[in-house]
Amino acid sequence: MFAEAMAGLGTFKTMLDMAKGLKDINDAAVRNTAVIELTEKIIAAQAAQAALIARVGELEKELVRFENWETEKQRYQLEELPPGILVRSLKPGMENGEIPHKICANCYEKGIRSYLHNRGQSHGLTHWKCHTCGFDEKTGKFIKPVVNRGNRGGSGWMA
Ligand SMILES: [Zn+2]
Repeated sequence: MFAEAMAGLGTFKTMLDMAKGLKDINDAAVRNTAVIELTEKIIAAQAAQAALIARVGELEKELVRFENWETEKQRYQLEELPPGILVRSLKPGMENGEIPHKICANCYEKGIRSYLHNRGQSHGLTHWKCHTCGFDEKTGKFIKPVVNRGNRGGSGWMA
């Protein structure tokens, strides 16, 4: 990035020297060639400058996102759900008007706030899923279902 900017400054010096030299060229054909070459250099320099401006804009957005995440991540604490599944949950008092929820510990480490979706509960287990990284786990303590011969429907998961 810095090297590109310095190369860009070098290009501007070259163009300035070329522009100064134009008045000393008496041959019209040679002068026209020099003007065309200078015009090409100006167009290339404008494109390079536009690319640098775009890159600065991207970096500014990235910095804002990073700063926001540094604040946001303080709202969550590590929680271990049986049988040893790590998640991040909202710290008490840090709700900021949001309902209690959990986020994915894997995504948290990558600087992404991704909700853990509660896909349902059955037999003492809760099914959690992260749609960002694919985390898919069941937590809780399995309770052996009572056999009911009359019940033939469903997978056992409640929506
Ligand atoms: Zn995730």
